[in-house]
Amino acid sequence: MENLENSLERYFSYKTFRTGQKEIISDIMAGQHVLATLPTGAGKSICYQLPALLVKGGVIVVTPLLSLMEDQVKQMKQRGYSHITSLNTFNTEQERLTIIRNLHKYKLIFLSPEMLQNQNVLKKLMLIDISLFVIDEAHCISQWGHEFRPDYLKLNNVIVDLKYPTILALTATATPDVQKDVISQLASVKFKKHIYPMDRDNIALYVKQVDHHHEKDRFIIAVLERYNVPTMIYFSSKKETERVASIINQRFDQLNVAYYHGDLDTSDRLLIQQQFMENQLDVICCTSAFGMGINKSDIRLIIHYHLPTQLESFIQEVGRAGRDQLESVSITLISPNDHQIPQRLIESELPSLESVEMLWSEIELLSQSKLTVKVDTNEWAQRYNFSEVHLRFIKNFLEAYGILKYNKYIVSHSSIHEAKIAIINKIKERSRYKKHKLNELLNWLATSGCRRQRLYAKFQSHISPAKYQCCDRCGFDLFQWQPKQSGYRQRINDYLSQLKSVMIPFNEDE
Ligand SMILES: [Zn+2]
Repeated sequence: MENLENSLERYFSYKTFRTGQKEIISDIMAGQHVLATLPTGAGKSICYQLPALLVKGGVIVVTPLLSLMEDQVKQMKQRGYSHITSLNTFNTEQERLTIIRNLHKYKLIFLSPEMLQNQNVLKKLMLIDISLFVIDEAHCISQWGHEFRPDYLKLNNVIVDLKYPTILALTATATPDVQKDVISQLASVKFKKHIYPMDRDNIALYVKQVDHHHEKDRFIIAVLERYNVPTMIYFSSKKETERVASIINQRFDQLNVAYYHGDLDTSDRLLIQQQFMENQLDVICCTSAFGMGINKSDIRLIIHYHLPTQLESFIQEVGRAGRDQLESVSITLISPNDHQIPQRLIESELPSLESVEMLWSEIELLSQSKLTVKVDTNEWAQRYNFSEVHLRFIKNFLEAYGILKYNKYIVSHSSIHEAKIAIINKIKERSRYKKHKLNELLNWLATSGCRRQRLYAKFQSHISPAKYQCCDRCGFDLFQWQPKQSGYRQRINDYLSQLKSVMIPFNEDE
């Protein structure tokens, strides 16, 4: 077999590997299970795209978001790689059936953890030789698996069903705790770890405290007046993305602004993403739904209008800036009581203990009367005010304890009480954990020391000094920043210099 460098050049036209890629790929090719953290923009996808071209069997890539799949599939197809597909809710029923029927013909298959719980898909995959099972954004196992997307916690069973292909768990941000959690959820395999530093020396960190949230709007206007660079503004409210996008729109004729959140339909989301990638948009006001896997190298400015709920999300979002290694800036705007927004978000992610108690009383009563009782779990949501996420979380527990079957039968069971204690403990534990994570972020905002050192301290022992400017605590003055302007300013400059070059001969003749 030719060496890895030759394959890299042949398939991807890169002469050398970037940090970590070769070590990770060599281990995978040797059949080692690998857990790897590579910073955003370090070329994670090569770590499975190249092996996919070299191994004998198929490669499954589990990714959390539809837009990630679509994007990757598109990019690979543009490179002339056709044995690739993605199975997701964006496919029509007919398309999905056709893809499932032909799964054995594809080399690289992207799908969501939920899709792996589809028995037709799993059965078909069990018939195919799968060489490599990739879990992209593996921190989602820990970050989302416990409540939002329990199917992340079922990946271990899938791995067993597929008879232990080589596993590659990839992530950009994982504290030692999160790494441990990921590994414990995939307990059936032993991992070799490749952990690379995630600090970004080209992004200056700037935190601005204001007295009122209206001031945030004014501050953003002032920043955009000065800088015309590819900009992302993060919000935790969908409504606010729209409101601020409209303010910017009214204020700046020349700027192309869009908003993006989970309520837009899929085609709009894909369109906006594409426009942003192709520099047709200058500013995007978005929720965290936007960004994961965005492959745009020249984002210069990331503004946090609202706080995320933990440092990891913050680091991931900030890490979307300056992938081209040029000077970029992260601005975080905070006003008094801002911590209440992520706090409320955290609370709303878990069902209340009271409602869980009430539901369990109902279940206990039902299971006393008959051996098997038919129930409509959607009614629970109405009766006890459960969100979709709560309901999934609860059903998952009931199923795990054998109390709920086929999503509609309550089976009389001795472990009902045991399950109640377990779910209550779990809710308390998750709530404590989330509050602790939020506090880490709040403490970082309040730090009096260097923000860069403090931001990455939990993740790695050595933090590189800033390549350009460091942070507001180290004297970085935002309004002295001099990035290369782009967008409409660049368009105007190009036009002026073109005009000048045409004009000069005239001047000289005179
Ligand atoms: Zn600093």
